[in-house]
Amino acid sequence: MRNRFRTADRFADGAQYIAGRPRRGGSGTEQAVVDPATGERVYGYELASTADVDAAVEAAARAFPVWSSATPGERSDALHRFAAVLAGQAEELAAAETAQCGKPIKLSTEFDVPGTLDNTSFFAGAARHLEGRAAGEYSADHTSYVRREPIGVIGSIAPWNYPLQMAAWKILPAVAAGNTIVLKPSELTPLTSLMFARAATEAGLPDGVVNIVSGAGKDVGEHLVGHPGVAMTSFTGSTAVGKRVAEIATRTVKRLHLELGGKAPFVVFDDADLEAAVHGAVAAALINSGQDCTAATRAYVQRPLYDAFVSGVADLMATVRLGDPFDPATDLGPLISLAQRDRVAGFVERARGHARVVTGGEAPSAARDGDLARGAYYRPTLITDAPQHSEIVQAEIFGPVLVVLPFDGDDEGLALANDTPYGLAASAWTRDLYRAGRATRELRAGCVWINDHVPIISEMPHGGHRASGYGKDMSAYSFDEYTQIKHVMYDNTAVARKDWHRTVFGDR
Ligand code: NAD
Repeated sequence: MRNRFRTADRFADGAQYIAGRPRRGGSGTEQAVVDPATGERVYGYELASTADVDAAVEAAARAFPVWSSATPGERSDALHRFAAVLAGQAEELAAAETAQCGKPIKLSTEFDVPGTLDNTSFFAGAARHLEGRAAGEYSADHTSYVRREPIGVIGSIAPWNYPLQMAAWKILPAVAAGNTIVLKPSELTPLTSLMFARAATEAGLPDGVVNIVSGAGKDVGEHLVGHPGVAMTSFTGSTAVGKRVAEIATRTVKRLHLELGGKAPFVVFDDADLEAAVHGAVAAALINSGQDCTAATRAYVQRPLYDAFVSGVADLMATVRLGDPFDPATDLGPLISLAQRDRVAGFVERARGHARVVTGGEAPSAARDGDLARGAYYRPTLITDAPQHSEIVQAEIFGPVLVVLPFDGDDEGLALANDTPYGLAASAWTRDLYRAGRATRELRAGCVWINDHVPIISEMPHGGHRASGYGKDMSAYSFDEYTQIKHVMYDNTAVARKDWHRTVFGDR
């Protein structure tokens, strides 16, 4: 079954992409891309140095005057060609994503790649629809209008959970609005970001519009955030690193867009369709092995449905097939690394003292599961009876772990759902229109689903509230991040001594 994605030829020239060309990193430090399903090395490369970041920022700055002065129609044409080139590489992109992340091939093929293609087509169209207020005479003596202008060189940093989609979410709105960009993917997963940037060049985007520096977070990431040539930082990753990024960006008064962690609640009212809620919870907790910032992590279930919901989730989790990510029948792949697997296991072990592990709570063993034990797999895990303020309920675990807790009144359910620092996503399950309406108003999150959890669409914004950050990816709302507004005011009087000058010259 193993359809190993071949990297040797494709990335032979290195894992940096600067000014339209691949090149080797200059840090002198080797980094491996590892298949987390087997522990085998997929690719080795030299990490970027800070000098590589300087070169990428310089290339982006050189490309900015030409790209930012292209008409919206010209940028749109280029992005339509980009979408076509990507569509031709769909299969390879899916294989590369599965090879470097271990995500099931059906997820790469049916979610990551089509989502990216749709996003590219969306921004190709949206590039022609940058909106603003109508020009007008807001003072009798002047005509005012606004210009929506690109900001300059954008420095973006992305995580490893959806490398291709994260590259797309960062690059597309930025370049559609006329900016140029330097993206730092996670050092664990640079392959599809590199393929994405190369496809941009193949589609005819000018050299330097899209640059990739594959480097370590601490030195290269921080250098990019603090770089004086970078006008804006757009970061997706954990809240802890987001805070550090914000500190550094503030020193140079950079515009900042932060898409951070989540701990999404899943609220099931007593009139909900139980089968739908059980299926929804298992799918939303396990997608991408739970390494999804919007994944359902805390299900609050109204008392009358609680027992049936817990047993339904346990039964359904038992049917989920762990396996080779390249096998189309595999439901659940490994986590991104053994370190992440051990981190998830640590949360579960610490919870055992005060909560009940109903199912899962372990990695596959060699005796029972053969080859699976080599990979970073962790079984779907259901936890109950955890105190609301315990770590397992409050902290982002980023693994296939769902906590289920009961509630009585609607007020209590919504209050518990809002009771973490995060605010990225939430869902409510009910057939009652008024309960649904109340949940959409009161759940404190950037996205609220009713009777579903996880789907996203290019036309609608994605982004958090509270400790999940600020700013929006996807949709026309993202242009509010990647453009700046300029007010232009024309004098209409042609009078040399204007009325308001009296405030300075007296009556002369
Ligand atoms: P992370 O914060 O550890 O790393 C994210 C990126 O930041 C990586 O490229 C990393 O190299 C870089 N980085 C690390 N330290 C840095 C530093 N000091 N300065 C600058 N850059 C630095 O996150 P991760 O483990 O790669 O990804 C998982 C996290 O991402 C989760 O918290 C998840 O919720 C979050 N996430 C959020 C969204 C969203 O839309 N809100 C989407 C996907 C993932």
